[in-house]
Amino acid sequence: MNNKRLIIIGAGLAGSEAALEAVKRGIKVDLYEMRPQKQTPAHKSDYFAEFVCSNSLGSYDLTNASGLLKREMEILGSELMPVIMESKVPSGGALSVDREMFSKKVTQIITNHPLINVIREEVTSIPDDTPVIIASGPLTSEALCDNIKTFLDEEYLYFFDAVAPIIEKDSINFNKAFYMNRYNKGSADYINCPMNKNEYENFYNILINSPKIELKSFEKDAKFFESCLPIEVIASRGKDTLRFGPMKPIGLVDERTGEENYAVVQLRQDNMSASLYNLVGFQTNLKWGSQKELIQSIPGLENASVVRYGVMHRNTFINSPKVLYPTLQTRKNPNIFFAGQITGTEGYTESIASGLLAGINASKYILGEELLELPSETVLGALTHYISFEGHTSFQPINSNWGILAPIDVDKKIRKNKKLKNELLAKRSLEIIKAISEKI
Ligand SMILES: Cc1cc2nc3c(=O)[nH]c(=O)nc-3n(C[C@H](O)[C@H](O)[C@H](O)COP(=O)(O)OP(=O)(O)OC[C@H]3O[C@@H](n4cnc5c(N)ncnc54)[C@H](O)[C@@H]3O)c2cc1C
Repeated sequence: MNNKRLIIIGAGLAGSEAALEAVKRGIKVDLYEMRPQKQTPAHKSDYFAEFVCSNSLGSYDLTNASGLLKREMEILGSELMPVIMESKVPSGGALSVDREMFSKKVTQIITNHPLINVIREEVTSIPDDTPVIIASGPLTSEALCDNIKTFLDEEYLYFFDAVAPIIEKDSINFNKAFYMNRYNKGSADYINCPMNKNEYENFYNILINSPKIELKSFEKDAKFFESCLPIEVIASRGKDTLRFGPMKPIGLVDERTGEENYAVVQLRQDNMSASLYNLVGFQTNLKWGSQKELIQSIPGLENASVVRYGVMHRNTFINSPKVLYPTLQTRKNPNIFFAGQITGTEGYTESIASGLLAGINASKYILGEELLELPSETVLGALTHYISFEGHTSFQPINSNWGILAPIDVDKKIRKNKKLKNELLAKRSLEIIKAISEKI
């Protein structure tokens, strides 16, 4: 054991994982969290590691880059992955959690840890005499944002992210809605609300004519994250875009009628007791009255009781290509690390993963050891290399995907077989991660 100390700003997904990584290596942690004294516009509780929108972490399957990232995290010893598994709710091939159960458990583990000193205070300036991980997230408080901007001498970048509504299961009309997973894969975890052509057209008309919550003047040039677009933005790209996106009917034939539907709205279980369901892909910035009208125009949801409406928030991130190394240490000051969504990686899994790496590296730095730079053959390595690559012409946040991994040398036949190629990429990554994990 040593007396070395690490400060972590933000007990969100990244900060919580980073704290647990550091204490595992004998480092004492001062963990600052501003909630509940000061709330962010998206968090709803006092708990650490809160999931602010959907309760899904995406795929756990090795044929998906996000699934591979989770396996890499498990091998590297992620402390939050086992808690995720304990808080799992059924959701087909995706990994989803009871958000409250998960956050409560993480809060308990952290507050009871003898090496973690939790300080419920807003940090307004970066401490300069102690190693620090800044994991204050996409909704970092304004005072700290200003201070980070001065330290980095860089403008912030930002985009918009919206939250999807949640409704009570008891208010769903099961004469119309039905349980089923797409293509009948696994147990029937999703609730599906089918639409015929007329119902879809009515829904679409309400959607495109509904008023949105006004953005502030400086936000008018809002950019969105392409893989998490608000439903009204998807709809604005064409009448049928939703039917090829979150409302695609393929593989969801209602067994009662045997008919292929024109469009389907899917709902995913949001808590362990299955009393709450969220509307998959329905993140939105519509005014709340319009959201209610829109939701209640969906067959099966005529009497839906909405417990949380969708909202949109500005997501802030730093210009990582100019300021970070792939170790998540800043180029300007070796004492200072960044982790989580603020670095320009996007998503719950990615945030926890970068907290894992920052926790390992800040500990190594304190212990005088060489920092860990993961290779681009791994998803986590590819993400950290992507965000710290100086050659970007326009840097935008990124989530796990096969395209950022270092190419694999395979013959033409395999290159064309996506599934086989991804299996080889996954195999290669896991071998590398296993070898690395034995050394750290
Ligand atoms: C509205 C919205 C919806 C999103 N929806 C999804 C989704 O559905 N799926 C998905 O995968 N990702 C989603 N994301 C993206 C991202 O995965 C989450 O934001 C994730 O929580 C980021 O993790 P983090 O640890 O970086 O930040 P957070 O989990 O936000 O943690 C940061 C913590 O720092 C605290 N903090 C902030 N400033 C200070 C300060 N000055 N002093 C002390 N503490 C401070 C905050 O209170 C917070 O607890 C969404 C993001 C937003 C903003």
